[in-house]
Amino acid sequence: MRELVLWNATIVDARSSSPRERMSITVRGGSIADVGMVDGERAPEGAVDLGGAYVVPGLIDAHIHLGDDAAMVGDLAVPLAMRGEAPHARELVYFVLANAARAFLRAGITTIRDVGCYDDNAIVLREAIRLGLTEGPSILSCGRIISATAPGAVLFKSMYEEADGPWQIRQCVRNQLRRGADYIKVMAGGARSVLRENPEHAQLDRLEMDALVDEAHRLGVRVAAHAEGLGAVRLAVEAGVDTVEHGLSLHRAPELLDHMARHGMVLVPTLTTFHDVAERIAHRFEPRLVEQAKRQKEEAYKTLVAARDAGVVMAMGFDSGPPGADALEMVRMVEGGLSAHAALSAATVGSARALGLTDAGTVEAERRADLIVLGHNPLDDVAVFTRPADFRTVIKGGSVVAGSL
Ligand SMILES: [Zn+2]
Repeated sequence: MRELVLWNATIVDARSSSPRERMSITVRGGSIADVGMVDGERAPEGAVDLGGAYVVPGLIDAHIHLGDDAAMVGDLAVPLAMRGEAPHARELVYFVLANAARAFLRAGITTIRDVGCYDDNAIVLREAIRLGLTEGPSILSCGRIISATAPGAVLFKSMYEEADGPWQIRQCVRNQLRRGADYIKVMAGGARSVLRENPEHAQLDRLEMDALVDEAHRLGVRVAAHAEGLGAVRLAVEAGVDTVEHGLSLHRAPELLDHMARHGMVLVPTLTTFHDVAERIAHRFEPRLVEQAKRQKEEAYKTLVAARDAGVVMAMGFDSGPPGADALEMVRMVEGGLSAHAALSAATVGSARALGLTDAGTVEAERRADLIVLGHNPLDDVAVFTRPADFRTVIKGGSVVAGSL
């Protein structure tokens, strides 16, 4: 089996808040086979001398929507059709997705969890990467988002599958697995981006939510719940979901944060999405939603600190674009009060926990060889992750996918 030895690395990961110097990382196949102290002053034959460069685990974005919306993919978008030009074929989206996949890799985002997209885009891209048709990160898909019959489905069309009542909900869970989903995503409550929904309220009732969690867990998959207001968050947490997406109202319910900490539920705070609706792409939203997003942004930052203090595991979820800019979420976590080490932990082990991955997120034996090599200590400034041009190398599954060694 092909072997790669990274000699004299300085490892920075969630397991220690101080960098571990003079380490040697042996990669065999797609995994890390061994991590130990270097011995001797010269790199052994065939090893790559990193000269003390920093090595961190590949980053994991736990909340992404794969698609071709120009506001989310930026320069990667299909150019608008000119007047007189025939409309562009829908299938051009697959080229956008392939470019997005490479942009994630270049930025050291080696795993992403798609939390809802149109027309099963994430499953198509996941399969294209698995079959070697294009390069990209490891992808987990929810299939379609399970929602009660609700106004959001008018906007989000093929991103959703509506179901009502415990038995329809159970069938809907089974449908997603048939489609190829890796886990289940549910709208526990309304969405802040839908004028006719109130994000404070739960949309499913208790019987429906219990049925969904029971069905998913019985079939061995995890549950991510979109939950903004307290009604939705309470329903999701009490039903025993695995991750709470957004969860901005949690600072108002310390008992729910305690419950999440005790039961290992992960919070994905998605700070950037509130900046998006309140600021970056506010011009695209109905004014009342912009005002609501401003209030929600304040709450999201309060919840970030409250969750940290309660010992809740947090994951990094960008919920924005363009692909590869994801680490902006880490910068915002630090601006909101987390240490750089906590932000890095969120983007690695926290996200791995959210996704249910036990073989990713740290630089140690038997983990995936997904690694970023950097010239600077990222704990001095996590913003380095927003500048992929400053990376020396990105390694995915033991192969160099950006930069060089
Ligand atoms: Zn989202």
